[in-house]
Amino acid sequence: MSNFYEAEVLSVRHWTDRLFSFTTTREASFRYQSGQFAMIGLEVDGRPLMRAYSMVSPHYEEQLEFLSIKVPDGPLTSRLQDIKVGDSILVGRKASGTLLSQNLLPGKHLYLLGTGTGLAPFMSIVQDPDIYDQFDKVILVHGCRHVNELAYQERIAADLPNHEFLGDLVADRLIYYPTVTREPFENQGRIPDLLQSAQFYDRLGLPPLDMAHDRFMLCGSPAMLKDTVEVLAGQGLKEGNMSHPGHYVIERAFVDK
Ligand SMILES: Cc1cc2nc3c(=O)[nH]c(=O)nc-3n(C[C@H](O)[C@H](O)[C@H](O)COP(=O)(O)OP(=O)(O)OC[C@H]3O[C@@H](n4cnc5c(N)ncnc54)[C@H](O)[C@@H]3O)c2cc1C
Repeated sequence: MSNFYEAEVLSVRHWTDRLFSFTTTREASFRYQSGQFAMIGLEVDGRPLMRAYSMVSPHYEEQLEFLSIKVPDGPLTSRLQDIKVGDSILVGRKASGTLLSQNLLPGKHLYLLGTGTGLAPFMSIVQDPDIYDQFDKVILVHGCRHVNELAYQERIAADLPNHEFLGDLVADRLIYYPTVTREPFENQGRIPDLLQSAQFYDRLGLPPLDMAHDRFMLCGSPAMLKDTVEVLAGQGLKEGNMSHPGHYVIERAFVDK
């Protein structure tokens, strides 16, 4: 059996000239946990050209959804950005990733800190009812340069709290904090700075960072991860993994080449 299967594109949405999302069919045998990523791609010159992508869709969804950057000269995304409904993409059969609650120590507040397409794995997590069994509050912080890059704002802020099954949980437990760095907006500032700001916790209605109760998942650029880990490690928090659960887990939103 091949390592990849063909999925049909069901919808495409272009958010900006740098960002788009799309849904595809899902093979029933493709299993994953919310927060994981898989390899997806296109056949180019008769060979699969694959890149890591986090699933936006929660593990129980019949369709798959992805949020993608458009890198103008990127081998994959210079092509992927042109996909249309009815086209096929390749999806790897194996999912993996570290953004899993079992890699975290039990806690009260789960902070999901994402920049750019680093929002993708957290979209699946905030749509997963299990996470609300494990944490009293789930705080989704999405950082971007510009307001129009804050993808899925409406789904998070309006649709999810009114969702038939998830609505009550989300309305009570999910706090959404979009923030931008390069233009005026209701929330501004970089994630590492927010974590050290009393005003940030005031606006959330939560106490300042406390390693006894607060857990973190991070997904962003290499620079964002480095600066955020510096703040968390500076407070004594430890990174978690499969064998040793910790206070935070990290996943790269992309690799700088
Ligand atoms: C674990 C993991 C999960 C990922 N999940 C996603 C995802 O959900 N959505 C997504 O769009 N990408 C994601 N990526 C990045 C993705 O694998 C590709 O790098 C991206 O699709 C660009 O592919 P490319 O072939 O066009 O260019 P590449 O040759 O892969 O990248 C070229 C350059 O573009 C920049 N770049 C690449 N990806 C991004 C990005 N997402 N945001 C900002 N700059 C970027 C980097 O500087 C990189 O060096 C993920 C990467 C990893 C390691």
